[in-house]
Amino acid sequence: MNRKSIAVLTSGGDAPGMNAAIRAVVRTGIFHGLKVMGVKKGYEGLIKGEIFEMSLSSVADIIHRGGTMLQTARSPEFATPQGREKALNMMSVFGIQGLVVIGGDGSFRGARDLAAMGVQVVGIPGTIDNDIPFCDYTIGFDTAVNTVVEAISRIRDTTSSHNRANIIEVMGRNSGDISLYAGLAGGAESIVVPEVNASVEDVCKRIMHGRNRGKLHSIIILAEGVGGAFEMAKAIEDKIGVETRVTILGHVQRGGSPTAFDRIMASRLGARAVELLMEGKTSRMVAQYQNQIRDFDFDEVLTAKKGFAGEIYSLARILSI
Ligand code: ADP
Repeated sequence: MNRKSIAVLTSGGDAPGMNAAIRAVVRTGIFHGLKVMGVKKGYEGLIKGEIFEMSLSSVADIIHRGGTMLQTARSPEFATPQGREKALNMMSVFGIQGLVVIGGDGSFRGARDLAAMGVQVVGIPGTIDNDIPFCDYTIGFDTAVNTVVEAISRIRDTTSSHNRANIIEVMGRNSGDISLYAGLAGGAESIVVPEVNASVEDVCKRIMHGRNRGKLHSIIILAEGVGGAFEMAKAIEDKIGVETRVTILGHVQRGGSPTAFDRIMASRLGARAVELLMEGKTSRMVAQYQNQIRDFDFDEVLTAKKGFAGEIYSLARILSI
């Protein structure tokens, strides 16, 4: 009897912890007697046939590494029916019967389209943005938050020495979660996120409130989805005369060794994804939700909207005043 063959790919933006998920898929699959293949560069590699068999040792020494050993790509061709038809053909050439897609919501849309064509496919949320519904935390989010918190501490030292304000722009596309969690953990005076309409006046008021009671620094966390960091710095200087610097953290937030939390969650999700394929499930995302490993239909995930962590926002405002 032929062994069942499955494949794994990473797609969209990379995130620390993707390697731990790949390792879990490969080793769980082999443990259960499956043949496991790796696809390079996401859907692009699926179309082009950049596919190879993975052994136990092919994923050795990667659990602690950021990025993705399978590499990732954005594939405009795959977003077309013709591109997906090519991917489907390539999967049958390589005898792939089940696919694990590690990525964000764009990758899940592609995965749902593949499932609609009859492919057995399961998704794992891998993105630093934490913007996926039915998912407590996406893989990479915890590492990114820790990176930002470390940056806040460093910037706080120099900001205090000079009695300045500093606007730190952090990633997260349209989601303010990295800003909220890092802002709370880093004790930022203001957190400006796309989900809340904040004014420069409010930011200035909080800076002045802190100064009046002897605070030496003011840290403003600004989510990239809001934008306008330099304009805000100028507005603060114009309004209250406090020297304000801007730090754009950029891609440092996407790299680095994953935290233990991300490695553990990625390992559990990778293993569960393989089990779902063995159970014959398809078109489902596996995620940690309400502290349990659960799975949800892609349709449900892709039509829902992730709730705003309002209580984190309110708490950060109360505690930093
Ligand atoms: P992420 O998965 O991190 O959200 P993207 O949005 O860039 O990243 O999506 C990754 C890839 O998934 C895209 O390059 C494309 O190939 C595929 N994809 C994205 N959106 C769709 C869609 N609506 N339909 C089909 N495929 C899509």
